[in-house]
Amino acid sequence: MKRIAILGSTGSIGESTLKIARHLKDKIEVRAIAAKSNIDKLEQQAREFSPELIAVFDEDKALELQKRLPNHRVVAGMEGLKAVAGLASVNMVVSAMTGTLGLEPTLAAIKAGKDIGLANKEALISGGGLVTALVKEKGVKLLPIDSEHSAIFQCLNGEDRSAIKRLIITASGGPFKNHTKEQLHNISVDQALNHPTWRMGPKITVDSSTLMNKGLEVIEAHWLFGVSLDKIDVVVHPQSIIHSLVEFVDCSMIAQMGEPNMMVPIQYALTYPDRLPGVFQNFDFIKNGTLQFFAPDFDRFRCLKLAYDAAKKGGTLPGYMNAANEVLVHRFLDKQISWSDISHKLENLMQRHSVQRVSSFEDVIANDKVARKEAALA
Ligand code: MG
Repeated sequence: MKRIAILGSTGSIGESTLKIARHLKDKIEVRAIAAKSNIDKLEQQAREFSPELIAVFDEDKALELQKRLPNHRVVAGMEGLKAVAGLASVNMVVSAMTGTLGLEPTLAAIKAGKDIGLANKEALISGGGLVTALVKEKGVKLLPIDSEHSAIFQCLNGEDRSAIKRLIITASGGPFKNHTKEQLHNISVDQALNHPTWRMGPKITVDSSTLMNKGLEVIEAHWLFGVSLDKIDVVVHPQSIIHSLVEFVDCSMIAQMGEPNMMVPIQYALTYPDRLPGVFQNFDFIKNGTLQFFAPDFDRFRCLKLAYDAAKKGGTLPGYMNAANEVLVHRFLDKQISWSDISHKLENLMQRHSVQRVSSFEDVIANDKVARKEAALA
């Protein structure tokens, strides 16, 4: 029996995780749930799954939820999130909170020796070296939930890592892949939120439209699989059927394919190393008769280039970029800045940032705070 805690149970990945738990109820038990502030959804989830512990980051909302659920234990704040992450009865934590909010509880879960289903990108982008060292020290499994990384993880099953020639991460290209530079100046929030193939939360959907999401995934893959950046390529594949590939030294390529739906990678992380019956019909190759591939345009989509640059420079730069980008994306969603401002402002901020070494998690958090402050004023 997998006994899981979900950090971010009210978000898109959290809800899909609960769908899997419903679908595999004799294999997966939901012991704890946590969210930032959506107590209406948490209340519903608590009534359905009866978790042992519920955490709400927002302290007032936590009090209100405790009143609504007198027979449940509700905890609050960052300490509450960490309590969920370290709960004794849990053996796997699904880390699905966006942003830095998810970083500390994810580290707490690793320190407590829990296996991690990783959807939160923060941990690896801002502190990849520290996190992978901690994972090794604690002997926990770090199972990717991101579809691309789940794909690569599956392609590498039973393979010798030294036989990897390169990783090829596919990108849908987002809703603006065919826009000219001029058209990219007049993007509305609604247009950016209208992703052609994937249904996801708003932050990651905007990141997909700028290709920053792909850039972050390149950095994630670098840390997860220990592959150098010059061996990680991105190819635009608008149909999102091939979720990523590995090319080996003998020039053989293994790809992982399926419906563009997060249920598949989440279920694989939850049932790993087993495979259990999924929820989809047989894949229709005839209906999906065309698979296309294009080169990414690093000029129109600067964010992808910025992410490669940040990863190559290393130190505080990837974490700085990630946190600054998050603030800029929220400013775009709040209609304070334009879509193209995201990459322009980010590039300026990154040029001004003086790169430092990251030698502790305190460094990671401090760097994150600086980035947020600077990006809010940029
Ligand atoms: Mg992805």
